[in-house]
Amino acid sequence: MTAVRHVTRGVLTALNGTTGTGLLVALITRAKIRRGRHGVLIAEGYRLPIPPASCFTVGSVIITRRSASWLLDEQRRELFDHEHRHAAQYALLGPLFWPAYWVACGYSYATTGSWGARNVFERRAGLEAGGYPTDLPLRPWLARLKGPSATRSNRRPPGSPSPG
Ligand SMILES: [Zn+2]
Repeated sequence: MTAVRHVTRGVLTALNGTTGTGLLVALITRAKIRRGRHGVLIAEGYRLPIPPASCFTVGSVIITRRSASWLLDEQRRELFDHEHRHAAQYALLGPLFWPAYWVACGYSYATTGSWGARNVFERRAGLEAGGYPTDLPLRPWLARLKGPSATRSNRRPPGSPSPG
């Protein structure tokens, strides 16, 4: 992304209230705000058990259980970029991100048993970088619905438990 797009994303998430919400979450949970990269802020030291991820994004704020320097480390560049793409999704959707994201989570969970594998927001942000499985088969009942070809590619006997 270019610098102009970073600024646009920052302005849009400020105007649509999602960054304010992220800062409020940080304030309430006593996470410390640090400067991130590409104009994204990092709230470090988040301690609540939900969500169970090492980081999550609200507007242009990446909230993490670890430290800002941990997330900004070169080894975590893909994870940072993943979260950064979520910030761009907030810029586009504003507060509509939340209901849309939860619908996408529900769809993904119903079809694969993973919140992310078929979640359009996670797919676009990058499944692997976000720590989600990339090759999860459809749940057996859905594979059956889709017909014999889908069932064949599934290669598991009927009635066996689905992973995850
Ligand atoms: Zn994600």
